[in-house]
Amino acid sequence: MKFAILSDIHSNLEALQVVLADTKAQQCTHYVCLGDIVGYGPNPLECLETVRALNCPTVIGNHDEYCASEIDLTGFNPMAADAIKWTRKQLSDEQRTWLRNLKYVRPVEGFTIVHSTLDLPEKWAYVFDKLAAASSFNYQHTPVCFNGHTHVPIGFVRGPTGIQGGLYTRIKIEVGRKYFINVGSIGQPRDRNPKAAYCTYDLINNLIEIHRLDYDIATTQKKIRAAGLPPTLADRLEHGR
Ligand code: ZN
Repeated sequence: MKFAILSDIHSNLEALQVVLADTKAQQCTHYVCLGDIVGYGPNPLECLETVRALNCPTVIGNHDEYCASEIDLTGFNPMAADAIKWTRKQLSDEQRTWLRNLKYVRPVEGFTIVHSTLDLPEKWAYVFDKLAAASSFNYQHTPVCFNGHTHVPIGFVRGPTGIQGGLYTRIKIEVGRKYFINVGSIGQPRDRNPKAAYCTYDLINNLIEIHRLDYDIATTQKKIRAAGLPPTLADRLEHGR
C-alpha cells in the first residue's frame, strides 16, 4: 500500500496533472488530499473535480473554507481576498457545499491528515518551528500525521530526546517516535523552489519521500493573468515564494 499525499493545489491544474502522472509512475495505490484545493489559481473547477474523482480522504483548507462561504474578508491580504472573491463566483452551489462539508481532521489507515495543526485545526495556525510542532504533537494519536498550509515542506520528529525539525527528502519511520510532516504545495510552493511538491508514504517499507516536479509554469501564469487575478499570483510561481 503506497499513498500519494497531495496538498495546497490552489487551482493550479498544470501542476496537479504533472503530480498525478508521477503518482502513477511511483505506483501509488491510494490518495489523500490535505486541502486548499482552490484559491489563488485559475482552474478551481477542474482541480476540484479532479480531486473528487480520486474519491479519497480529504480535509478542508482555509482557502476552501473561505471560497465555499461568505466569510467577511476584511483584514485579509488583498491579493488573497481578490482571488477568494473570484473563486467564489466560479464554484457552483453544489461544489461549495461539498467543500464546506469536508472535515478538519481525518484518520486514514493508521495515520492522520490535517491542513494546519491538530491542536486547533479550525484556527489555521502555521507550524514553522518546534514550539508550534510541540502543540500539535500533544493531540497526535498516530505515529504519523501529514499537514500542509505553509507551502514549506518541513518534517518534525518527536523522539526520546525531544523534537527535531527540518527539510527532508526521505524519512524512515521508526517505532517509538512521532512524525508531523508537511508535504509542501503542489500549486504554489513557497520554499524558493518553484517545482510542484507532494509526498509518497509507503506503508510496507515505512518510508516517506518528497517528490519535486517541473510543470508548465508559463501556461498557469498566462491563465492567471487572463482571468484578471492579481498578477503577483502569477509572478510568484516562477520564484517558488
Ligand atoms: Zn494553502
